Amino acid sequence: MRASPDIVINHATVRERMRLDAFLAGCAERGMRQVSIWGDEVERTGLDNVRSLLAQTGLTVFGYNRAGPLTATGPAERADRAARARREIEIAAALGADHVMVFTGGLPAGSRDLTATRRRVADTVAGLTEHAGTCGVKLAIEPLHPMLAGDRTCLTTLAEANDLCDRLGDGAGIVIDVYHVWWDPALEAEIRRAGSRILGFHVNDWLVPTGHVLRDRGMMGDGIIDLAGIHGLVREAGYDGPVEVEVFSDRWWAEDPDVAIDTAIRRCRDIFGSAAGSERP
Ligand code: ZN
Repeated sequence: MRASPDIVINHATVRERMRLDAFLAGCAERGMRQVSIWGDEVERTGLDNVRSLLAQTGLTVFGYNRAGPLTATGPAERADRAARARREIEIAAALGADHVMVFTGGLPAGSRDLTATRRRVADTVAGLTEHAGTCGVKLAIEPLHPMLAGDRTCLTTLAEANDLCDRLGDGAGIVIDVYHVWWDPALEAEIRRAGSRILGFHVNDWLVPTGHVLRDRGMMGDGIIDLAGIHGLVREAGYDGPVEVEVFSDRWWAEDPDVAIDTAIRRCRDIFGSAAGSERP
């Protein structure tokens, strides 16, 4: 099924059963222009191989996952993780990525001090933003759902992401993932506040009931998120980039990856209309 160039598939949606080379070929065959990819798959495939696959298919990298985790139990681990994040930023730049996703990590083992963790992460991200600027790539702050605050993030709302970007300046922006922010009473105001900072818009759905907060995201349309409504807010705020499909789901990982991609394209077309999904020759 051909897709609008305004759709990006995040490789995580199908990577359990589709390696990076097949994924890139599948996106190119469907007429997509950009892909979002993960560093572990780049490592598995080889950086030079990925660069030539991109050149062959004409695809460019939209989101690169990821710089982080950054939280650590002490200065040595923190320095080690920051160094690793800098290397990931360099790989993203070498691949010409539009932006690098920042993954903060949750509370360090043994810690209950979320306030100090947040402060340290902000300092680390400030340093990484400078490095990213030198490399010529933008950092993307993505607030994650508060249910993930224990083990995966210390940054859980769009308001926090906007506050952090106030400090970071132009080198960083925000990725809005509906799964993480749909519940937020301040959503509309914070999307408006984010404005030109919005670097990406991730779509999936919130299932009721949700079996697992990490591995049970829904395909767009199968849950309760007002996807068209949030998409409208993001567009009104000035975002004119693609809609990125990112479905972490045991159910969809078990599916034929081509079926998952085609289903995602169809759902985007139904929900987002001509802004992301109209079939073009
Ligand atoms: Zn996301």
